[in-house]
Amino acid sequence: MPECLFCGIAAGEIPAKIVLDAARTLAFRDINPQAPTHVLVITKAHYPNLATLAADESLLAELVSQVHEVARAEGIADSGYRVVFNTGGHAGQSVDHVHAHVIGGRPMAWTPG
Ligand code: AMP
Repeated sequence: MPECLFCGIAAGEIPAKIVLDAARTLAFRDINPQAPTHVLVITKAHYPNLATLAADESLLAELVSQVHEVARAEGIADSGYRVVFNTGGHAGQSVDHVHAHVIGGRPMAWTPG
């Protein structure tokens, strides 16, 4: 069993509700959804956070592309959605494997707490 939770999900060793499965990225439902749609998009390879993934521009582009694919598949592309990469302690990142939160399906306030 891998030490990293999201590596375990990427490997199929930890169950998750998969939304989209691509060659190098994976989208699955957040276990504690904050809105009608709350999907996490990860790279299958382990990068601790957005800052480290930024060195691989093509994979970063694939991740962002899958974010929009999720929005389309979930039917929130037209109404609007929020994409969040919590990065580091002040942002409240709790899983050290890069992930985009794709959140939508209801109006949202700004700014974050
Ligand atoms: P963050 O706080 O930005 O690092 O986000 C981590 C997210 O992972 C949180 O929204 C959690 O609800 C979610 N999460 C934790 N464990 C699981 C799991 N086993 N399956 C799906 N989502 C999870």
